[in-house]
Amino acid sequence: MIDKPLFLIGGEFTDQSEHPSFPVVNPCTEENLWDCPQAGPSHVAEAVKHAKAAQSAWADTHPSARATLLRKTADILASRVEAIGKALSLEVGRPYKMAVGEPTRGVEILHWIAGEADRIGGETLTSRAGGRISIVREPVGIVAGITPWNFPVGQALQKLGPALAAGCPIILRPAEIAPLTATLLVQCFVDAGFPKGVIQMLHGAPQPISDAIFDNPDIRKVAFTGSTAVGKMLLAKAAASVKRTSMELGGHSPVIVCADADLDNAAAQTAMLKFANSGQVCIAPTRFYVHEDVAEAFTQKLVAQAEARVLGDSQNPDSTMGPLAHAGQRAKLEELIADAIAKGATVRTGGARPAGLDVGYFLEPTVLADVPADARIMHEEPFGPVALITTFSDLDEAIARANDSEYGLASYGFTTDLATSEKLSRGLQAGVIAINNIDVSGHESPFGGIKQSGIGREAGRYGILEYMNIKATHVTW
Ligand code: NAD
Repeated sequence: MIDKPLFLIGGEFTDQSEHPSFPVVNPCTEENLWDCPQAGPSHVAEAVKHAKAAQSAWADTHPSARATLLRKTADILASRVEAIGKALSLEVGRPYKMAVGEPTRGVEILHWIAGEADRIGGETLTSRAGGRISIVREPVGIVAGITPWNFPVGQALQKLGPALAAGCPIILRPAEIAPLTATLLVQCFVDAGFPKGVIQMLHGAPQPISDAIFDNPDIRKVAFTGSTAVGKMLLAKAAASVKRTSMELGGHSPVIVCADADLDNAAAQTAMLKFANSGQVCIAPTRFYVHEDVAEAFTQKLVAQAEARVLGDSQNPDSTMGPLAHAGQRAKLEELIADAIAKGATVRTGGARPAGLDVGYFLEPTVLADVPADARIMHEEPFGPVALITTFSDLDEAIARANDSEYGLASYGFTTDLATSEKLSRGLQAGVIAINNIDVSGHESPFGGIKQSGIGREAGRYGILEYMNIKATHVTW
């Protein structure tokens, strides 16, 4: 298997950099892991040339043959989950035993998407002219995927899988932080036998690559996952040539804990997602609105959950939480925590760098209570292991406060009352909602945001549709 980040262009892995390579840093040790080559506009042009050469044959390949290649990729991925989990844990800092779960889940994602290729179909209608209207789905054309580092396998697979299943060549540009993980993932597709030019990958500084992608008329769709700020810039660029986009953007998820909730369940579930990947999860529960009658009891349970996390190196089998993925991420969080405290928030646990972990970008799992609405962290996505607790007495008011955000990705509610559960489901403004659990991202269920959290859906039977045009042919005879 490959042991350093490489480009994949025209079926060949290469490190022929246009710009000097850049170091990839282990966030646990702050040491350089390996160097990554850096692509520029000429690499994009070269990749598009190969994608164009492969495009028609791939679109004409029967969907079941495309599905077979995806299933073969899944089998190869299944045999490499340890190696890919290891690279992921080193690059992102997630403890190895948790990191290995991501490629393991990736195998299931690929099998689901292979099934979606098998199920591509259309419909027919009787036309007003007395003939027939046939409605078919066709691949959108060449796709570029731009992905973040927080789930470098899952995020890439939710672009590669549906694009390839739909019959589109795809050029992946993964985040700078986890390029070896992406290289090893893409190698599974190559080893499965995907034709050259159908899947390609470039690394490097985002702007020159994305400018070349958006300026290229042959790329018909960009699938992006990342922050809302970058998503907005890319949407503006897409307007110039009316490129199709899907945007999986930031979140600031509210949690409503009602007085009748099972508090142990609420604390255990939300802590699992809040502190997973050190809080660097787009759907992480962040703003907790807890009924005043149970606020203290719930806070104590959440604090206990936070304090049970074992911070440490990603390669240490005892670690259950790693560092933040880069220094800037921790600096931003420290600033947001300081601002909240200055405005009146109380630190119930954490809030600082852990004693004894002087190297690495570690930050304690943190619970802040009495966080005022004007604290920056109540509006700016923290993307880190910080839970913010405030109280409520009236459910309508809690729902209104939960919805008072430019984001609308995930929302959570905890209650044992059926009518309250329905009220939360109807009232919360989000693309995905979970009541009494936090499981909103299974591959069989549509995932995505509303408001400034995004456009489009990944996964479920909806994901592949983002990579297909609908064509209606009206026939009379
Ligand atoms: P980011 O927006 O900084 O980067 C995401 C990707 O875009 C990376 O590959 C990055 O290199 C690239 N990028 C950065 N600047 C760019 C530019 N000017 N032009 C083109 N590409 C550019 O986000 P991040 O810090 O990597 O990831 C965290 C963000 O992603 C959070 O906001 C999180 O909520 C969001 N996210 C959303 C989802 C979702 O499904 N909605 C999933 C994971 C992460």
